Amino acid sequence: MSFYDTGLKFSCRECCYCCAGEPGFVFLEEKDVKAISDFLKIGEKEFIACYTRPVVYNNYTTLSLKEKSNNRCVFLTSKGCAIYPVRPIQCSTYPFWPHLMESLDAWKEEKAYCPGLDSGELHIKEEIETKLKLMKDRILIKL
Ligand code: SF4
Ligand code: SF4
Repeated sequence: MSFYDTGLKFSCRECCYCCAGEPGFVFLEEKDVKAISDFLKIGEKEFIACYTRPVVYNNYTTLSLKEKSNNRCVFLTSKGCAIYPVRPIQCSTYPFWPHLMESLDAWKEEKAYCPGLDSGELHIKEEIETKLKLMKDRILIKL
């Protein structure tokens, strides 16, 4: 039994907090790099040079999307995410991340940051678990 057995409601309110509110990391897998490079019609090396930065996480160096000086993700525009159809797994699976699915308390605490939780579209358990697995199986790039 888990607290999300009957599903959870979530719809993004497009407040942009998670794309711009605080400094943070948007980690990338190889498949993210390929999908975004293809979408932008540029080579992977060019994508990495222009849009990513090396960061240290869990004692190794990996890639994160760049942030502008005001903490905004490099792909956040006035019309929203410029790479929305191929946004990184980390973005497309939110808020069904492992640490938020551990307990109802963790889910409730996240509501302080995201106004989309517990409102809007109902996401069934199977969908939540598919997204959870994508995050659990992530293999981040090691530089
Ligand atoms: S914090 Fe929540 S509501 Fe705001 S942009 Fe992010 S996912 Fe959408
Ligand atoms: S890639 Fe798109 S969804 Fe992800 S943080 Fe950047 S602007 Fe937001």
